[in-house]
Amino acid sequence: MLDKVVIANRGEIALRILRACKELGIKTVAVHSQIDRDLLHVRLADESVCIGPNPSPQSYLNVPAIISAAEVTDATGIHPGYGFLAENADFAEQVENSGFVFIGPTADVIRLMGDKVSAKDAMKKAGVPTVPGSDGALPDDDDAIRKMAKQIGYPVIIKAAAGGGGRGMRVVHSEAHLLNAVNGCRSEAAAAFGSGVVYMEKFLENPRHVEVQVLADGQGNAIHLGDRDCSLQRRHQKVLEEAPAPHIPDDVRRATLEACSRACIDIGYRGAGTFEFLYENGAFYFIEMNTRVQVEHPVTEMVTGIDIVKEQLRIASGMPLSIKQEDVIIRGHAFECRINAEDPKTFMPCPGKVTYFHAPGGPGVRVDSHLYAGYSVPPNYDSLIGKIITYGRDRENALNRMKMALDELIVSGIKTNQPLHQELVRDGEFRKGGVNIHYLEKKLKG
Ligand code: ADP
Repeated sequence: MLDKVVIANRGEIALRILRACKELGIKTVAVHSQIDRDLLHVRLADESVCIGPNPSPQSYLNVPAIISAAEVTDATGIHPGYGFLAENADFAEQVENSGFVFIGPTADVIRLMGDKVSAKDAMKKAGVPTVPGSDGALPDDDDAIRKMAKQIGYPVIIKAAAGGGGRGMRVVHSEAHLLNAVNGCRSEAAAAFGSGVVYMEKFLENPRHVEVQVLADGQGNAIHLGDRDCSLQRRHQKVLEEAPAPHIPDDVRRATLEACSRACIDIGYRGAGTFEFLYENGAFYFIEMNTRVQVEHPVTEMVTGIDIVKEQLRIASGMPLSIKQEDVIIRGHAFECRINAEDPKTFMPCPGKVTYFHAPGGPGVRVDSHLYAGYSVPPNYDSLIGKIITYGRDRENALNRMKMALDELIVSGIKTNQPLHQELVRDGEFRKGGVNIHYLEKKLKG
Protein backbone atom coordinates (compact mmCIF):
# COMPACT_ATOMS: atom_id res chain seq x y z
CA MET A 1 0.00 0.00 0.00
CA LEU A 2 1.14 3.56 -0.69
CA ASP A 3 2.79 4.96 2.41
CA LYS A 4 2.13 8.70 2.15
CA VAL A 5 -0.03 10.64 -0.26
CA VAL A 6 0.00 14.29 -1.31
CA ILE A 7 -3.54 15.56 -1.80
CA ALA A 8 -3.16 18.03 -4.68
CA ASN A 9 -6.57 19.62 -4.35
CA ARG A 10 -8.78 21.56 -1.95
CA GLY A 11 -12.29 21.70 -0.49
CA GLU A 12 -14.62 18.77 -0.15
CA ILE A 13 -12.71 16.41 -2.46
CA ALA A 14 -9.46 16.95 -0.54
CA LEU A 15 -11.29 16.01 2.64
CA ARG A 16 -12.84 12.99 0.90
CA ILE A 17 -9.39 11.77 -0.19
CA LEU A 18 -7.96 12.40 3.28
CA ARG A 19 -10.69 10.24 4.83
CA ALA A 20 -10.02 7.37 2.40
CA CYS A 21 -6.27 7.57 3.14
CA LYS A 22 -6.88 7.51 6.90
CA GLU A 23 -9.08 4.44 6.60
CA LEU A 24 -6.33 2.65 4.72
CA GLY A 25 -3.60 3.79 7.11
CA ILE A 26 -1.95 6.02 4.51
CA LYS A 27 -0.27 9.19 5.81
CA THR A 28 -1.45 12.44 4.25
CA VAL A 29 0.13 15.67 3.08
CA ALA A 30 -2.17 18.62 2.38
CA VAL A 31 -0.80 21.17 -0.09
CA HIS A 32 -2.63 24.47 -0.10
CA SER A 33 -2.59 28.09 -1.17
CA GLN A 34 -2.07 30.88 1.34
CA ILE A 35 -5.75 31.61 1.87
CA ASP A 36 -6.54 27.90 2.26
CA ARG A 37 -4.53 27.25 5.41
CA ASP A 38 -7.76 26.99 7.42
CA LEU A 39 -9.34 24.33 5.23
CA LEU A 40 -10.63 21.41 7.24
CA HIS A 41 -8.44 18.79 5.56
CA VAL A 42 -5.34 20.93 6.09
CA ARG A 43 -6.04 20.81 9.80
CA LEU A 44 -6.66 17.06 9.75
CA ALA A 45 -3.71 16.06 7.55
CA ASP A 46 -0.53 14.60 9.03
CA GLU A 47 1.49 17.32 7.31
CA SER A 48 0.78 20.40 5.28
CA VAL A 49 2.76 22.53 2.85
CA CYS A 50 1.83 25.96 1.56
CA ILE A 51 2.56 25.80 -2.17
CA GLY A 52 1.91 29.39 -3.18
CA PRO A 53 -0.34 32.44 -3.39
CA ASN A 54 -4.11 32.26 -3.86
CA PRO A 55 -4.50 32.33 -7.67
CA SER A 56 -4.63 28.68 -8.73
CA PRO A 57 -1.97 29.01 -11.47
CA GLN A 58 0.47 29.83 -8.65
CA SER A 59 -0.72 27.12 -6.26
CA TYR A 60 -3.04 24.27 -7.26
CA LEU A 61 -1.77 24.35 -10.85
CA ASN A 62 1.83 24.93 -9.86
CA VAL A 63 3.43 21.63 -10.87
CA PRO A 64 7.00 22.23 -9.56
CA ALA A 65 5.63 23.38 -6.20
CA ILE A 66 3.45 20.29 -5.83
CA ILE A 67 6.24 17.92 -6.81
CA SER A 68 8.64 19.69 -4.42
CA ALA A 69 6.11 19.26 -1.62
CA ALA A 70 6.06 15.54 -2.35
CA GLU A 71 9.89 15.50 -2.29
CA VAL A 72 10.30 17.34 1.00
CA THR A 73 7.65 15.31 2.79
CA ASP A 74 8.91 11.99 1.43
CA ALA A 75 5.53 11.14 -0.02
CA THR A 76 5.04 8.18 -2.35
CA GLY A 77 1.92 9.13 -4.29
CA ILE A 78 -0.02 12.18 -5.50
CA HIS A 79 -3.82 12.26 -5.71
CA PRO A 80 -5.05 15.01 -8.05
CA GLY A 81 -8.77 14.89 -7.11
CA TYR A 82 -10.93 16.49 -9.83
CA GLY A 83 -10.44 19.75 -11.73
CA PHE A 84 -7.05 21.52 -11.46
CA LEU A 85 -4.39 19.03 -12.70
CA ALA A 86 -6.50 15.87 -12.59
CA GLU A 87 -6.68 15.43 -16.36
CA ASN A 88 -3.37 17.00 -17.26
CA ALA A 89 -1.28 14.32 -18.96
CA ASP A 90 1.95 16.36 -18.64
CA PHE A 91 1.43 16.58 -14.90
CA ALA A 92 0.84 12.81 -14.62
CA GLU A 93 4.02 12.26 -16.62
CA GLN A 94 6.09 14.63 -14.48
CA VAL A 95 4.79 13.04 -11.30
CA GLU A 96 5.82 9.58 -12.49
CA ASN A 97 9.15 10.80 -13.92
CA SER A 98 9.93 12.33 -10.53
CA GLY A 99 9.52 8.93 -8.93
CA PHE A 100 6.01 9.29 -7.44
CA VAL A 101 2.85 7.35 -8.16
CA PHE A 102 0.18 9.35 -9.99
CA ILE A 103 -3.16 8.19 -8.59
CA GLY A 104 -4.94 7.91 -11.91
CA PRO A 105 -4.41 6.46 -15.38
CA THR A 106 -1.13 6.59 -17.32
CA ALA A 107 -0.26 9.85 -19.08
CA ASP A 108 -0.77 8.16 -22.46
CA VAL A 109 -4.33 7.16 -21.66
CA ILE A 110 -5.15 10.64 -20.28
CA ARG A 111 -3.83 12.07 -23.53
CA LEU A 112 -5.81 9.61 -25.66
CA MET A 113 -9.06 10.38 -23.85
CA GLY A 114 -8.32 14.11 -23.50
CA ASP A 115 -8.51 14.51 -27.25
CA LYS A 116 -12.17 13.99 -28.10
CA VAL A 117 -11.44 12.87 -31.63
CA SER A 118 -9.02 10.15 -30.57
CA ALA A 119 -11.26 9.22 -27.62
CA LYS A 120 -14.25 8.76 -29.89
CA ASP A 121 -12.19 6.74 -32.30
CA ALA A 122 -10.94 4.46 -29.51
CA MET A 123 -14.49 3.98 -28.26
CA LYS A 124 -15.78 3.10 -31.72
CA LYS A 125 -13.05 0.48 -32.02
CA ALA A 126 -14.02 -0.91 -28.61
CA GLY A 127 -17.65 -1.23 -29.66
CA VAL A 128 -19.00 1.62 -27.52
CA PRO A 129 -21.87 3.45 -29.31
CA THR A 130 -20.93 7.03 -30.29
CA VAL A 131 -22.86 10.01 -31.71
CA PRO A 132 -23.02 9.76 -35.53
CA GLY A 133 -20.68 12.33 -37.04
CA SER A 134 -17.50 13.05 -38.95
CA ASP A 135 -15.01 10.25 -38.93
CA GLY A 136 -12.33 12.13 -37.02
CA ALA A 137 -11.29 15.76 -37.50
CA LEU A 138 -12.97 17.96 -40.11
CA PRO A 139 -10.98 18.39 -43.33
CA ASP A 140 -10.08 21.82 -44.81
CA ASP A 141 -12.24 21.23 -47.87
CA ASP A 142 -15.44 23.30 -47.57
CA ASP A 143 -17.39 21.14 -49.99
CA ALA A 144 -16.48 18.03 -48.09
CA ILE A 145 -17.69 19.64 -44.85
CA ARG A 146 -21.00 20.63 -46.45
CA LYS A 147 -21.48 17.15 -47.82
CA MET A 148 -20.76 15.62 -44.43
CA ALA A 149 -23.30 17.82 -42.63
CA LYS A 150 -25.95 16.99 -45.21
CA GLN A 151 -25.28 13.31 -44.77
CA ILE A 152 -25.44 13.47 -40.97
CA GLY A 153 -28.54 15.68 -41.18
CA TYR A 154 -29.13 19.05 -39.50
CA PRO A 155 -28.92 20.15 -36.77
CA VAL A 156 -25.24 19.32 -36.28
CA ILE A 157 -22.80 20.42 -33.58
CA ILE A 158 -19.22 21.49 -34.24
CA LYS A 159 -16.94 20.59 -31.32
CA ALA A 160 -13.31 21.29 -30.51
CA ALA A 161 -11.19 18.13 -30.14
CA ALA A 162 -9.42 19.71 -27.17
CA GLY A 163 -12.54 21.37 -25.75
CA GLY A 164 -13.74 21.09 -22.20
CA GLY A 165 -15.99 22.61 -19.59
CA GLY A 166 -18.81 23.02 -22.10
CA ARG A 167 -16.75 25.45 -24.23
CA GLY A 168 -15.75 25.25 -27.88
CA MET A 169 -19.07 24.02 -29.30
CA ARG A 170 -21.44 25.46 -31.92
CA VAL A 171 -24.83 24.17 -32.96
CA VAL A 172 -25.71 24.61 -36.64
CA HIS A 173 -29.29 24.36 -37.92
CA SER A 174 -28.79 24.96 -41.64
CA GLU A 175 -26.14 24.95 -44.34
CA ALA A 176 -26.16 28.75 -44.53
CA HIS A 177 -24.47 28.93 -41.13
CA LEU A 178 -22.23 25.90 -41.41
CA LEU A 179 -18.88 27.26 -42.59
CA ASN A 180 -19.06 30.31 -40.37
CA ALA A 181 -19.61 28.07 -37.37
CA VAL A 182 -16.76 25.75 -38.34
CA ASN A 183 -14.33 28.65 -38.78
CA GLY A 184 -15.52 30.37 -35.60
CA CYS A 185 -15.15 27.21 -33.62
CA ARG A 186 -11.68 26.59 -35.07
CA SER A 187 -10.30 29.99 -34.12
CA GLU A 188 -12.00 29.99 -30.72
CA ALA A 189 -10.58 26.54 -29.98
CA ALA A 190 -7.10 27.52 -31.17
CA ALA A 191 -7.14 30.52 -28.83
CA ALA A 192 -8.66 28.73 -25.82
CA PHE A 193 -7.16 25.24 -26.04
CA GLY A 194 -4.09 25.64 -28.25
CA SER A 195 -5.56 23.40 -30.95
CA GLY A 196 -7.93 24.36 -33.74
CA VAL A 197 -8.93 20.78 -34.54
CA VAL A 198 -12.71 20.44 -34.69
CA TYR A 199 -15.13 17.64 -35.54
CA MET A 200 -18.83 17.30 -36.31
CA GLU A 201 -21.62 15.40 -34.62
CA LYS A 202 -25.34 15.02 -35.05
CA PHE A 203 -26.90 17.41 -32.53
CA LEU A 204 -29.24 15.44 -30.30
CA GLU A 205 -32.14 17.70 -29.42
CA ASN A 206 -33.51 16.36 -26.15
CA PRO A 207 -31.04 13.89 -24.66
CA ARG A 208 -30.44 12.93 -21.07
CA HIS A 209 -26.92 12.85 -19.60
CA VAL A 210 -26.20 9.34 -18.39
CA GLU A 211 -22.72 8.21 -17.40
CA VAL A 212 -21.04 4.97 -16.43
CA GLN A 213 -18.56 4.59 -13.54
CA VAL A 214 -15.72 2.16 -14.10
CA LEU A 215 -12.79 0.79 -12.14
CA ALA A 216 -9.81 -0.89 -13.79
CA ASP A 217 -6.50 -2.06 -12.40
CA GLY A 218 -4.35 -1.78 -15.53
CA GLN A 219 -3.60 -5.48 -15.06
CA GLY A 220 -6.32 -6.74 -17.35
CA ASN A 221 -9.28 -6.41 -14.98
CA ALA A 222 -12.09 -3.89 -15.37
CA ILE A 223 -15.57 -3.59 -13.92
CA HIS A 224 -18.42 -1.11 -14.10
CA LEU A 225 -20.30 0.22 -11.08
CA GLY A 226 -23.52 1.01 -12.90
CA ASP A 227 -24.73 4.36 -14.16
CA ARG A 228 -25.75 7.83 -12.99
CA ASP A 229 -28.15 10.38 -14.42
CA CYS A 230 -26.79 13.94 -14.37
CA SER A 231 -29.30 15.62 -16.66
CA LEU A 232 -30.11 18.48 -14.30
CA GLN A 233 -27.56 21.01 -15.53
CA ARG A 234 -27.18 24.74 -15.83
CA ARG A 235 -24.69 26.04 -18.40
CA HIS A 236 -23.38 22.49 -18.79
CA GLN A 237 -22.66 22.36 -15.05
CA LYS A 238 -24.26 19.48 -13.18
CA VAL A 239 -26.51 20.50 -10.30
CA LEU A 240 -28.18 17.35 -8.99
CA GLU A 241 -27.34 13.72 -9.79
CA GLU A 242 -28.76 10.29 -9.11
CA ALA A 243 -27.93 6.61 -9.39
CA PRO A 244 -29.09 4.49 -11.05
CA ALA A 245 -30.42 6.41 -14.08
CA PRO A 246 -34.21 5.95 -14.04
CA HIS A 247 -36.38 4.39 -16.77
CA ILE A 248 -33.72 2.72 -18.90
CA PRO A 249 -34.52 -0.68 -20.41
CA ASP A 250 -32.44 -3.44 -18.80
CA ASP A 251 -31.02 -4.81 -22.03
CA VAL A 252 -29.90 -1.39 -23.32
CA ARG A 253 -28.34 -0.57 -19.96
CA ARG A 254 -26.53 -3.89 -19.71
CA ALA A 255 -25.08 -3.68 -23.21
CA THR A 256 -23.69 -0.18 -22.57
CA LEU A 257 -22.24 -1.04 -19.16
CA GLU A 258 -20.51 -4.11 -20.54
CA ALA A 259 -19.13 -2.14 -23.51
CA CYS A 260 -17.54 0.31 -21.04
CA SER A 261 -15.75 -2.44 -19.12
CA ARG A 262 -14.48 -3.92 -22.39
CA ALA A 263 -13.30 -0.49 -23.56
CA CYS A 264 -11.25 -0.09 -20.35
CA ILE A 265 -9.36 -3.28 -21.12
CA ASP A 266 -8.98 -2.25 -24.76
CA ILE A 267 -7.32 1.07 -23.93
CA GLY A 268 -5.33 -0.24 -20.95
CA TYR A 269 -7.24 1.89 -18.47
CA ARG A 270 -6.09 2.13 -14.85
CA GLY A 271 -8.01 3.65 -11.94
CA ALA A 272 -11.48 5.13 -11.64
CA GLY A 273 -13.08 6.67 -14.70
CA THR A 274 -16.37 7.75 -16.20
CA PHE A 275 -17.81 7.26 -19.65
CA GLU A 276 -20.24 10.08 -20.41
CA PHE A 277 -23.16 9.45 -22.74
CA LEU A 278 -26.11 11.27 -24.16
CA TYR A 279 -29.19 9.05 -23.96
CA GLU A 280 -32.05 9.68 -26.37
CA ASN A 281 -34.93 7.54 -27.64
CA GLY A 282 -33.65 4.45 -25.92
CA ALA A 283 -30.08 4.65 -27.23
CA PHE A 284 -26.73 5.62 -25.67
CA TYR A 285 -24.18 7.81 -27.49
CA PHE A 286 -20.67 8.24 -26.03
CA ILE A 287 -19.49 11.86 -25.81
CA GLU A 288 -16.38 11.79 -23.65
CA MET A 289 -14.45 10.03 -20.91
CA ASN A 290 -13.36 11.62 -17.64
CA THR A 291 -10.16 10.03 -16.43
CA ARG A 292 -10.57 10.93 -12.76
CA VAL A 293 -12.86 10.70 -9.77
CA GLN A 294 -15.96 12.83 -10.31
CA VAL A 295 -17.88 15.18 -8.03
CA GLU A 296 -20.90 12.89 -8.22
CA HIS A 297 -19.07 9.63 -7.36
CA PRO A 298 -20.86 9.29 -3.97
CA VAL A 299 -24.24 8.34 -5.49
CA THR A 300 -22.54 5.30 -7.01
CA GLU A 301 -20.85 4.51 -3.69
CA MET A 302 -24.23 4.57 -1.97
CA VAL A 303 -25.92 2.11 -4.33
CA THR A 304 -22.94 -0.25 -4.65
CA GLY A 305 -21.38 -0.03 -1.19
CA ILE A 306 -17.98 0.36 -2.89
CA ASP A 307 -15.61 3.13 -1.81
CA ILE A 308 -14.32 4.51 -5.12
CA VAL A 309 -11.51 6.60 -3.62
CA LYS A 310 -10.19 3.68 -1.58
CA GLU A 311 -10.23 1.59 -4.75
CA GLN A 312 -8.23 4.33 -6.52
CA LEU A 313 -5.63 4.15 -3.77
CA ARG A 314 -5.49 0.34 -3.87
CA ILE A 315 -5.11 0.30 -7.66
CA ALA A 316 -2.38 2.97 -7.47
CA SER A 317 -0.60 0.78 -4.93
CA GLY A 318 -0.35 -1.89 -7.63
CA MET A 319 -3.03 -4.18 -6.22
CA PRO A 320 -5.34 -6.02 -8.63
CA LEU A 321 -9.07 -5.25 -8.42
CA SER A 322 -10.49 -6.92 -5.35
CA ILE A 323 -14.07 -6.82 -6.65
CA LYS A 324 -15.46 -8.97 -9.44
CA GLN A 325 -18.27 -7.80 -11.67
CA GLU A 326 -20.66 -10.36 -10.17
CA ASP A 327 -20.00 -8.87 -6.73
CA VAL A 328 -21.25 -5.46 -7.84
CA ILE A 329 -24.90 -5.31 -6.91
CA ILE A 330 -26.88 -2.12 -7.41
CA ARG A 331 -29.26 -1.79 -4.50
CA GLY A 332 -31.68 1.08 -3.85
CA HIS A 333 -31.33 4.62 -5.15
CA ALA A 334 -29.22 7.68 -4.31
CA PHE A 335 -29.31 11.42 -5.01
CA GLU A 336 -26.69 14.14 -4.66
CA CYS A 337 -27.34 17.88 -4.40
CA ARG A 338 -24.35 20.11 -5.04
CA ILE A 339 -24.43 22.99 -2.57
CA ASN A 340 -22.76 26.08 -4.02
CA ALA A 341 -21.92 29.38 -2.37
CA GLU A 342 -23.98 31.41 -4.81
CA ASP A 343 -27.10 33.50 -5.07
CA PRO A 344 -29.99 31.09 -5.72
CA LYS A 345 -31.62 33.49 -8.20
CA THR A 346 -28.73 35.15 -10.06
CA PHE A 347 -26.17 32.34 -9.57
CA MET A 348 -23.50 34.93 -8.76
CA PRO A 349 -20.81 33.47 -6.49
CA CYS A 350 -21.28 34.45 -2.86
CA PRO A 351 -18.06 33.95 -0.92
CA GLY A 352 -17.70 35.06 2.69
CA LYS A 353 -17.70 33.91 6.27
CA VAL A 354 -19.96 31.06 7.36
CA THR A 355 -21.33 32.16 10.71
CA TYR A 356 -23.31 29.01 11.45
CA PHE A 357 -23.42 25.57 9.87
CA HIS A 358 -25.70 22.69 10.66
CA ALA A 359 -25.42 19.51 8.60
CA PRO A 360 -28.45 17.26 8.11
CA GLY A 361 -28.44 13.70 9.42
CA GLY A 362 -30.50 10.58 9.93
CA PRO A 363 -30.73 7.27 8.09
CA GLY A 364 -29.38 7.32 4.54
CA VAL A 365 -27.93 10.84 4.71
CA ARG A 366 -24.29 11.62 3.88
CA VAL A 367 -22.71 15.05 3.84
CA ASP A 368 -19.39 15.58 2.04
CA SER A 369 -18.39 19.10 2.99
CA HIS A 370 -15.42 20.99 4.33
CA LEU A 371 -17.60 23.67 5.92
CA TYR A 372 -17.53 24.57 9.60
CA ALA A 373 -18.83 27.59 11.50
CA GLY A 374 -16.25 30.37 11.25
CA TYR A 375 -14.83 29.16 7.94
CA SER A 376 -14.50 31.80 5.22
CA VAL A 377 -15.31 30.69 1.67
CA PRO A 378 -12.61 32.36 -0.45
CA PRO A 379 -13.54 34.10 -3.71
CA ASN A 380 -10.69 32.48 -5.63
CA TYR A 381 -12.04 29.04 -6.46
CA ASP A 382 -15.05 27.01 -7.51
CA SER A 383 -18.16 27.78 -5.44
CA LEU A 384 -18.90 24.16 -4.43
CA ILE A 385 -19.03 24.07 -0.62
CA GLY A 386 -20.44 20.62 -0.12
CA LYS A 387 -22.66 17.82 -1.30
CA ILE A 388 -25.67 16.27 0.33
CA ILE A 389 -26.17 12.66 -0.62
CA THR A 390 -29.17 10.57 0.34
CA TYR A 391 -29.82 6.88 -0.06
CA GLY A 392 -33.12 5.02 0.02
CA ARG A 393 -34.49 1.58 -0.75
CA ASP A 394 -36.09 3.07 -3.87
CA ARG A 395 -36.11 6.38 -5.77
CA GLU A 396 -39.01 7.86 -3.87
CA ASN A 397 -37.53 6.98 -0.50
CA ALA A 398 -34.16 8.55 -1.44
CA LEU A 399 -35.90 11.66 -2.77
CA ASN A 400 -38.02 12.09 0.35
CA ARG A 401 -34.90 11.78 2.47
CA MET A 402 -33.27 14.46 0.31
CA LYS A 403 -36.25 16.73 0.91
CA MET A 404 -35.83 16.31 4.67
CA ALA A 405 -32.05 16.71 4.53
CA LEU A 406 -32.30 19.94 2.53
CA ASP A 407 -34.83 21.31 5.01
CA GLU A 408 -32.48 20.49 7.91
CA LEU A 409 -29.41 22.08 6.34
CA ILE A 410 -28.46 25.48 7.74
CA VAL A 411 -25.68 27.59 6.25
CA SER A 412 -25.65 31.13 7.64
CA GLY A 413 -23.57 34.12 6.63
CA ILE A 414 -23.43 33.37 2.90
CA LYS A 415 -26.04 32.66 0.23
CA THR A 416 -26.31 29.16 -1.20
CA ASN A 417 -28.39 27.36 -3.83
CA GLN A 418 -30.23 25.41 -1.10
CA PRO A 419 -33.60 27.00 -2.11
CA LEU A 420 -33.13 25.87 -5.72
CA HIS A 421 -32.58 22.28 -4.58
CA GLN A 422 -35.58 22.47 -2.26
CA GLU A 423 -37.67 23.47 -5.24
CA LEU A 424 -36.21 20.80 -7.52
CA VAL A 425 -36.91 17.87 -5.19
CA ARG A 426 -40.58 18.97 -5.10
CA ASP A 427 -40.82 19.35 -8.88
CA GLY A 428 -43.44 17.02 -10.37
CA GLU A 429 -41.61 16.21 -13.61
CA PHE A 430 -38.30 15.62 -11.86
CA ARG A 431 -40.00 13.37 -9.32
CA LYS A 432 -41.25 11.22 -12.20
CA GLY A 433 -37.65 10.77 -13.37
CA GLY A 434 -35.96 10.99 -16.74
CA VAL A 435 -36.02 14.74 -17.52
CA ASN A 436 -33.62 15.86 -20.28
CA ILE A 437 -30.57 18.15 -20.13
CA HIS A 438 -32.61 21.26 -21.00
CA TYR A 439 -35.17 20.80 -18.28
CA LEU A 440 -33.53 22.88 -15.56
CA GLU A 441 -32.70 25.86 -17.77
CA LYS A 442 -36.23 25.88 -19.19
CA LYS A 443 -37.66 25.73 -15.70
CA LEU A 444 -35.41 28.61 -14.57
CA LYS A 445 -36.55 30.73 -17.49
CA GLY A 446 -40.05 29.69 -16.45
P1 ADP B 1 -17.18 19.18 -22.33
O1 ADP B 1 -15.91 18.39 -22.27
O2 ADP B 1 -16.95 20.60 -22.70
O3 ADP B 1 -18.05 18.99 -21.13
P2 ADP B 1 -18.93 17.34 -23.85
O4 ADP B 1 -18.55 16.68 -25.12
O5 ADP B 1 -18.98 16.51 -22.64
O6 ADP B 1 -17.97 18.62 -23.62
O7 ADP B 1 -20.31 18.07 -24.06
C1 ADP B 1 -20.82 18.93 -23.08
C2 ADP B 1 -22.31 19.08 -23.25
O8 ADP B 1 -22.64 19.62 -24.54
C3 ADP B 1 -23.10 17.80 -23.16
O9 ADP B 1 -23.37 17.42 -21.83
C4 ADP B 1 -24.35 18.18 -23.94
O10 ADP B 1 -25.18 18.97 -23.13
C5 ADP B 1 -23.82 19.05 -25.06
N1 ADP B 1 -23.50 18.23 -26.24
C6 ADP B 1 -22.31 17.75 -26.62
N2 ADP B 1 -22.40 17.03 -27.77
C7 ADP B 1 -23.70 17.04 -28.12
C8 ADP B 1 -24.46 16.47 -29.20
N3 ADP B 1 -23.90 15.74 -30.17
N4 ADP B 1 -25.80 16.71 -29.22
C9 ADP B 1 -26.39 17.45 -28.27
N5 ADP B 1 -25.74 18.02 -27.24
C10 ADP B 1 -24.41 17.82 -27.14
